[in-house]
Amino acid sequence: MTVLVTGATGHLGPLVVQRLLARGAAPSDVVGAARRPERAQLPDGVAVVELDYDRPETLGPALAGVDTLVLVSASEPGRRAQQHGAVIEAAEAAGVRRLVYTSLLRADTSPLPLAPEHVATEQRLAASGLAVTVLRNSWYHENYGPDLARARETGVVTSGTGTGRVASASREDYADAAAVVALDDAHAGATYELAGDHAWDYAELAATIGEILGREVTYQALTQAEQVEALRAAGLDETSAGFVAALDAGIAAGALDTDDRTLSRLIGRPTTPLAQTLRSLA
Ligand code: NDP
Repeated sequence: MTVLVTGATGHLGPLVVQRLLARGAAPSDVVGAARRPERAQLPDGVAVVELDYDRPETLGPALAGVDTLVLVSASEPGRRAQQHGAVIEAAEAAGVRRLVYTSLLRADTSPLPLAPEHVATEQRLAASGLAVTVLRNSWYHENYGPDLARARETGVVTSGTGTGRVASASREDYADAAAVVALDDAHAGATYELAGDHAWDYAELAATIGEILGREVTYQALTQAEQVEALRAAGLDETSAGFVAALDAGIAAGALDTDDRTLSRLIGRPTTPLAQTLRSLA
């Protein structure tokens, strides 16, 4: 049974490969896929194939003989729904049986600007003949590495998230869940909301970072207009600054706040504490 994992040159893909092996898959049964295979660094015995979402001629050959496809969502907002659609079509044509897709927490009702492309992909998957598992991932702890780096210099973390809470988990936690569902057909047909066991707000993030850095760190809440201005001053273009501010506005409205424990149930242990990941990044 071959399990193919896309995004093998990114952060999440290689962790999914590692967790598949840790959960008993043979290296010869796992394949990483990347548009630049020479850049992939995967464990011994795991093959790498070329698969570029934008080059249809690479999709069929990469997916031939694959039983289960872990489609790690693509990374360019605005192009993802089309890229995922191309992969799903090729998977159907190649006779792939199961597909695991990394979506977004409560994608169908989420106010986050990332949601529509995940919804489009989920709808395309529902219309496919594949046995699908949708993993609706919340945020990664690792997203807060830059906040830690800035706080080291300034003693401040800023955001437009107000008192909105974020139930984040480590990439490894989400990777482990992907491995669990990819290796067990019992999860076919399921959509799982995946998030960390603890939802924190930015005041807590500041306190946690302060503890790790051994200095006082405070949280400064920004209005949406102030945030856009700060991001523009930091060099972001208007569109990107607006995108980030819209993400924070969605978080302020509760887009990543949940007490759902499906992730820890799937992986069979509590999710990694935020402080643990931030400490390793520090
Ligand atoms: P990365 O940006 O580290 O990895 C993205 C992967 O997608 C890379 O391997 C990249 O390849 C690959 N990719 C991009 N475009 C193509 C293409 N045209 N054809 C084939 N491969 C392509 O993201 P992560 O691994 O951290 O996260 C995985 C996904 O999760 C992201 O792509 C994004 O959709 C989402 N995400 C979720 C976050 C969260 O907090 N939940 C935060 C950040 C992202 P290459 O190395 O060649 O660029």
